[in-house]
Amino acid sequence: MNLMSNTLNAIQFRLNAGGMFFMVVCGLAATNSYAESFEGCVAGLRSSALTQGVSAQTFDQAMKGVEPDPEVIKSYGYQPEFRTPIWDYISGLVDDERVEDGRAQLSKWAPVLARAEQEFGVDRYAIVAVWGVESNFGMIKGKRELVRSLTTLVCANKREAFFRSELMATLRILQTGDIAPEYLVGSWAGAFGQTQFMPTTYQRLAIDFDGDGRRDIVNSIPDAIGSTANFLKKAGWIKGEPWGYEVKLPPNYSGPSGRKTKQSLAKWTGLGIKPVKAQIKQTNRVSSVAVMPDTTQAALIMPAGSEGPAFLVFRNFDAIYSYNAAESYALSIAHLADRMKGGPAIQAPWPTDDTGTSRLERREIQQLLLARGYQIGEADGLIGANTRVAISDFQASAGLPVDGRAGQRVLIALRKGTTQGSN
Ligand code: CA
Repeated sequence: MNLMSNTLNAIQFRLNAGGMFFMVVCGLAATNSYAESFEGCVAGLRSSALTQGVSAQTFDQAMKGVEPDPEVIKSYGYQPEFRTPIWDYISGLVDDERVEDGRAQLSKWAPVLARAEQEFGVDRYAIVAVWGVESNFGMIKGKRELVRSLTTLVCANKREAFFRSELMATLRILQTGDIAPEYLVGSWAGAFGQTQFMPTTYQRLAIDFDGDGRRDIVNSIPDAIGSTANFLKKAGWIKGEPWGYEVKLPPNYSGPSGRKTKQSLAKWTGLGIKPVKAQIKQTNRVSSVAVMPDTTQAALIMPAGSEGPAFLVFRNFDAIYSYNAAESYALSIAHLADRMKGGPAIQAPWPTDDTGTSRLERREIQQLLLARGYQIGEADGLIGANTRVAISDFQASAGLPVDGRAGQRVLIALRKGTTQGSN
């Protein structure tokens, strides 16, 4: 859900509209056939929208002047949860800055969070952690027009049925007037608002929690908090249960693992798997390790393999996972919630000799690159294509392994100025 930076290459995608295929070079002037096929696609969408309760007026107003967005197609094939090493992913999402920002929000919205906890039985720390990871507490909600992005994806035949229903849901939101068109902007895939709901998720699960009669997860923090709590409850959240905790494996462990392989806590204990010590010390403040009965069903996850940190996870981990189906994502939310409660960092080291960096450190990397003359724009802590290219170039000149990652190794090298031929 994080916004990806632009790459410089023009890209090609295959447009399938009206049963015909056209190769389209984005960024160049559209050919007649391409424009016609997009128009044909939109006309087809109009017909089906009208049969699904969307008025002609809503449709025509929403689609006025809509053109395909090549950036959306570019982003389509790139999902950071699956390509970024988990130590980079987590260290950027769960850093001291976000823990502190989260605590400030917990205090600012305490009465609303208390009401959400009471009404839905969902832990306030989990709600705030979702908010922090999804939009950095509303700071990064995405700027792409939903109607345009979703129409682009449908007409380029990218998961056509999926994005078509998201587009229809978007049109219905416009029709109800719950959210004004100028606020229906978000990620390239159509996630929007404080909680980055997809439009169909919004339709099913968003609630009006501030009582003004509108469900507005963009401009109302209480609506966003209530909607997140509602989501997690519907996803099976169990009141008062922890999501899980970090464990220590016996040496050379080769037993069962994986989020879907569940067995009782007693069985895991029998295999020699125990909570890490730091977690036990924090029992009262963090996750009530001691009170989970032996019969509780748990799964063992090892996001970086048996050489890295391991966790026993319960039902509430699955609830978080259903928000965005990636273990790295769910673990980031869970860990951020624990850290905001005063819990420790993940104890076991990740299996790498080049660990990840916080956003503060990423900004420092960018500042040091800028100081060396790399034209990478603003030092915003978001590692996009330009920063990666600059890092690769610096790594090559410094005799480091070239991977374009903003890890600790490159940060240390930049600080020391250990280059043989910096630009
Ligand atoms: Ca409201």
